[in-house]
Amino acid sequence: MNYLIATLLILPFMNHTTPGTAPFAPKELPYAYDALAPHISEETLRYHHDKHYTGYVAKLNELVAGTPQAGQTLEELVRTAEGPLYNNAAQMWNHEFYFDQLSPTPAPQPAGRLMQAIERTFGSVEELKKQMDKASVGLFGSGWTWLVADKRGELSLVATPNAGNPLREGLVPLLCVDVWEHAYYIDYRNRRAEAVAALWPLIDWKVVGARYDAACK
Ligand code: MN
Repeated sequence: MNYLIATLLILPFMNHTTPGTAPFAPKELPYAYDALAPHISEETLRYHHDKHYTGYVAKLNELVAGTPQAGQTLEELVRTAEGPLYNNAAQMWNHEFYFDQLSPTPAPQPAGRLMQAIERTFGSVEELKKQMDKASVGLFGSGWTWLVADKRGELSLVATPNAGNPLREGLVPLLCVDVWEHAYYIDYRNRRAEAVAALWPLIDWKVVGARYDAACK
């Protein structure tokens, strides 16, 4: 009897302990705050990770608490939520994806199947970079540009305004550029083209290649 009462008392809290669901915890950066300088400064990373990204996570937890979606994983929320709940879930997902692909010691070139797909679609890595830079500079306002794969493993570039995410279109994200001003304004002011170009020496093609290999399974 006592056991039954105890179980009933803790039941309302149990869905909060399911792994991968709310409340979500911000991920630590996989490198030191000053590790990406001079391309991205310590001050930018501290603001970007500790204020902006962490702010989206806090807001998401606030919005999802007590709703029917509270038991969903972050990816389920990104795929199905609407309005402010979607915006904050996608911004959490997008930022983790963005930070994870950067490294102070990146694999400097794509390899294997990803390299073959890039050459098939864009002709060369340099042309891919050129087209992605152009898409990033040309995106009006805030948003993200993405290298994505479709279900057949074919590559393309997508630009999404605000908290857009290609998972909504059934595409698999491989690489993203954050073109919100908060990502670069401290270091580059209004010079988005310079900020976007500065990202390439930090892109870990090993991470991008692993994402592609997973997408092609
Ligand atoms: Mn950002």
